[in-house]
Amino acid sequence: MLITANDPKRKSWLNVDKNSDFPIQNIPFGVFLTRDDIITIGTRIGDYAIDLGAFHQLGYFDGIPLTDDMFLQDTLNDFIADGRKTWRLVRNRIADVFDSTYSALRDNEEHREKIIFKIEEVEMLLPVSVGDYTDFYASKEHATNVGSLFRDPENALLPNWLQLPVGYHGRSSSIIQSGIPVRRPVGQSRPNEGETTPNFGPSKLLDFELEMAFITTASNNLGERIPIEEAEDYIFGLVLLNDWSARDIQSWEYVPLGPFLGKNFASTISPWIVTLDALAPFKVDNPEQVHTPLPYLQVEGKKSYDINLQVGIKPENATETIIVNSNFKYMYWTMAQQLAHHTVNGCPVNAGDMMGSGTISGPTKDSFGSMLELTWKGQHPITLNDGTQRKFINDNDTVIIRGYSKNNDVRIGFGECVGKVLPANK
Ligand code: CA
Repeated sequence: MLITANDPKRKSWLNVDKNSDFPIQNIPFGVFLTRDDIITIGTRIGDYAIDLGAFHQLGYFDGIPLTDDMFLQDTLNDFIADGRKTWRLVRNRIADVFDSTYSALRDNEEHREKIIFKIEEVEMLLPVSVGDYTDFYASKEHATNVGSLFRDPENALLPNWLQLPVGYHGRSSSIIQSGIPVRRPVGQSRPNEGETTPNFGPSKLLDFELEMAFITTASNNLGERIPIEEAEDYIFGLVLLNDWSARDIQSWEYVPLGPFLGKNFASTISPWIVTLDALAPFKVDNPEQVHTPLPYLQVEGKKSYDINLQVGIKPENATETIIVNSNFKYMYWTMAQQLAHHTVNGCPVNAGDMMGSGTISGPTKDSFGSMLELTWKGQHPITLNDGTQRKFINDNDTVIIRGYSKNNDVRIGFGECVGKVLPANK
């Protein structure tokens, strides 16, 4: 089916700023609370939130097989479970109705009032109920940097890393939407030199991780696998992800089973899921891999995406400083490889599962995706615009992640993934 929603020539009758992340070609999906206290599934064009529950009730999806309450829900899970054909029909139809050549809704004030809200009038909620959350570790630069800092610079990259997309099972209960504050975690950390009792208290090394995450539809049954050439059919879309990490808790607890309480206190995601379809124009060549991977991880065609990523820190009562400029295309393992690997043993993947990319670090120092790497474990603090220095994240700092793709025709963005750090509970 043609993705007519992506036509770069389209213009909407809604006003869209040329630098907006949300032109009519984007049509992301999210969940919000309206000024009338109704929770609905919606999309966004420019600075307008569009209530798809009302849009459907008023007949604008006529001819597309959808259940009556498909969009009158507090998560996107059922819509995602309907599969790629439905996503495409729905995106194409929304694009048509808001296209400048189409007048039915534009000229119907009563309908417009029910369907269209100013973005500041709605409150964004978590878009999906995440059943299972997996986090990968798929940036070669990040794995090399962390291996050097935590273990041994001579053997930074372990031998398995170049042969498979390393990952672990995270916790979905602490996935939160952009805007919800994050409480500094408390926990154990390494004992002081010469002592055996570990330290205990608020984390002193609280960090962000610049990641993206993809949301899946139901993909395979128990015992079956997803062939890599089909993997992208099961990816609904992507969000920005800040996988908050407490480095002092992490480095003490992680041997031998991997990340645990240093990671699972909060993971912040951006509220709009940008579909893989909307990102299709931004496919780029996959990174060259050191070893030819095993056949189940080999794939033809472009599976990497050119998405600019940025991280800023905003201290309380001060302006924001941009501290990272990176790109999703730096990932060594692609999403298709990650999903094929995840299911090769027959592990089922469900609608609404979330897979984090792992921290995205690029080749240059300003493209490292965590404070751990940017300050080299605190050895080289960063100076912010207000003159203060940071080795890690302070209380009352706000961390902001942004992401967008851009070519000569169109800019498709994600908006912001924002989290403010609150002091630890006493
Ligand atoms: Ca992570």
